[in-house]
Amino acid sequence: MSKIIAVLSGDGIGPEIIAEAVKLLEVLQQSYGLDIQLEEGLIGGVATDATGKPLPDETLQLVKKADAVLLGAVGGPKWEPLPIAIRPEKGLLGLRSELGLFANLRPAILFPELADASTLKPEVVAGLDILIVRELTGGIYFGKPRGVRNLDNGEQQGFNTLVYDTHEIERIAKVGFESAMQRQRKLCSIDKANVLEATELWREIVIEVGKDYPEVQLSHMYVDNAAMQLVRQPKQFDVMVTNNMFGDILSDLASQLTGSIGMLPSASLDANGKGMYEPIHGSAPDIVGQNIANPLATILSVAMLLRYSLQQSELADKVENAVSKVLQSGLRTADIQQDGKTIVNTQEMGDAVVKSLVS
Ligand code: NAD
Repeated sequence: MSKIIAVLSGDGIGPEIIAEAVKLLEVLQQSYGLDIQLEEGLIGGVATDATGKPLPDETLQLVKKADAVLLGAVGGPKWEPLPIAIRPEKGLLGLRSELGLFANLRPAILFPELADASTLKPEVVAGLDILIVRELTGGIYFGKPRGVRNLDNGEQQGFNTLVYDTHEIERIAKVGFESAMQRQRKLCSIDKANVLEATELWREIVIEVGKDYPEVQLSHMYVDNAAMQLVRQPKQFDVMVTNNMFGDILSDLASQLTGSIGMLPSASLDANGKGMYEPIHGSAPDIVGQNIANPLATILSVAMLLRYSLQQSELADKVENAVSKVLQSGLRTADIQQDGKTIVNTQEMGDAVVKSLVS
């Protein structure tokens, strides 16, 4: 039976980059027999404009029946004055919670051809390929009690709660181990077990889950050291698994090692492998409509969709190899331009990847 892919272009450059990803998916259908059905839905500012809601009921129905969701980006200056409840970003958060997307996978991959684009020395980052697995629906961002209270001495006190239940740690640890099994079989669990009891439990449970994955080499690192090691010697890592807040900070740090925001894909997965796939960048209002946005983060998100939701690892490899070949051939969008390389627009970059895929 065909797998249903919900395609949500969203706002700003969303439709421009999603068009290139759809082109690629259609070629995978025609040339590689990928059995999928693409169904479009509204999300974000364009959805608010059309229906009054950033996540319309029809879209919710669509994503719930779909096997995977491909998202462009949401937001933009036009919708900033709106009340928070109907802002585009609310639609995205609604999708994550409605679908129970607790595992956020953010690869930080640096194609060797782009080593000069990083702020770190090329020899430190060339060939970088890290996967950060971040818990997305628990921890201190959701823990209760939380708030700001008045104290008897007249001061105020802000407070949040770092809380993780066993099942929440187990399921994200499993995603970490499963991901490692598909890669170099090295998993580094990030915690602050020397100071925080909640992360002491985290470490204990990760070790317990690891007993089911004897092939994976498990290590542990305190988050402060992990931040330092990511800048000092990032290639020591294969997969990192961590809680919501540590992952938030470390994944932004890791993404910057690779130079361009236009290159980085992401996946957010539920317990059954259903996922939402999107570039890590936003709707880029400053370049919308100019046909200069880099579509590669979205195309690499399609590779993740193939790997994690459709179990099509070989096709995922083919897409990633096609991107690599295009970069080797010297084609660059404006955001990754380098001396002596050929600048192409959004569509030309998408066409080049498709051509490389079928050649
Ligand atoms: P942004 O990621 O949209 O843009 C930051 C900079 O990177 C801009 O200069 C932009 O031109 C550039 N850029 C981004 N994607 C690019 C691409 N594919 N190719 C070339 N250049 C690219 O971040 P921002 O400007 O802070 O936010 C703009 C809007 O996007 C805001 O409304 C924000 O809320 C929203 N946003 C949405 C998401 C999402 O949908 N997941 C994520 C982040 C921001």
